[in-house]
Amino acid sequence: MFGSELDREDVQNPRRRIFLASAAAAIAGLALWQWRKPAILEAAAGSVGEPKEVTVVLFSDAGERQKQVRVAKVIKSAADWRKQLPSGVFDITRNADTEIAFSGKYWNLHDKGIYRCICCDNALFDSATKFDSGTGWPSFWSPIAAENITEIRDTTFGMVRTAVSCTECDAHLGHVFDDGPEPTHLRYCMNSASLRFVSRT
Ligand SMILES: [Zn+2]
Repeated sequence: MFGSELDREDVQNPRRRIFLASAAAAIAGLALWQWRKPAILEAAAGSVGEPKEVTVVLFSDAGERQKQVRVAKVIKSAADWRKQLPSGVFDITRNADTEIAFSGKYWNLHDKGIYRCICCDNALFDSATKFDSGTGWPSFWSPIAAENITEIRDTTFGMVRTAVSCTECDAHLGHVFDDGPEPTHLRYCMNSASLRFVSRT
């Protein structure tokens, strides 16, 4: 339906940016590949020409990094998401709502394991990067892989924030702030409702 030129351009640009970022890191002698902050997308989600394929990194339920793959983006109608998800989860993941602090099931969980997307099972966070932020929301200092999440500038509610979504299905996950702990100083403030914990024990 849309021109192939446009599609190719949109697919290539993020990859080029990732390449440039990694080249710069290599030049600087940094070994922070896994902790590299994902590029912030200014474009609104769902815009025309959005890539239909995305790059993500697969992880086993034991948390082992497997391989980087190109996968078809998960695109469903609101009606289909409503059928799949409880209404509170639908509101948070598909309409960027936020759960009430201290109300979710993971803010106080300390078990070892990984957190997957509740909508599409994409691996998002590892318990090894989880920390007690005191906010009442599960908080991490890094995603499990930069490719697996997407950061978008969010100016709703009169604030400038960075929203975090699942790269594979665009589920809204939460926001990221720069007041986190070592080693990244980032705080990925997530909604429990957007996540599905897979225990390693
Ligand atoms: Zn997802």
